[in-house]
Amino acid sequence: MVDEKHTLRQQKRREKRIAKSRRQCHCCRQIFMFCWHCRCGFSMCQTCMHENAWGLTCNGITWTCPDCGDQNGYGNQ
Ligand SMILES: [Zn+2]
Ligand SMILES: [Zn+2]
Repeated sequence: MVDEKHTLRQQKRREKRIAKSRRQCHCCRQIFMFCWHCRCGFSMCQTCMHENAWGLTCNGITWTCPDCGDQNGYGNQ
């Protein structure tokens, strides 16, 4: 019980005000510190992007947004 409380407190301290930069992956609906995102608002986490890379990118340089079909840079953000 004491250990549980201690862990919870540590987590809270670590999560202090970093929520601002968080994004929700439109694919798995989880919140991530980093997501690939399109200007239309579509976001996808690294895991989903990796899993869907075969369908979203054909050259490894750009990925196509499944929402608006726009090309986005893949690799430098
Ligand atoms: Zn995801
Ligand atoms: Zn888009």
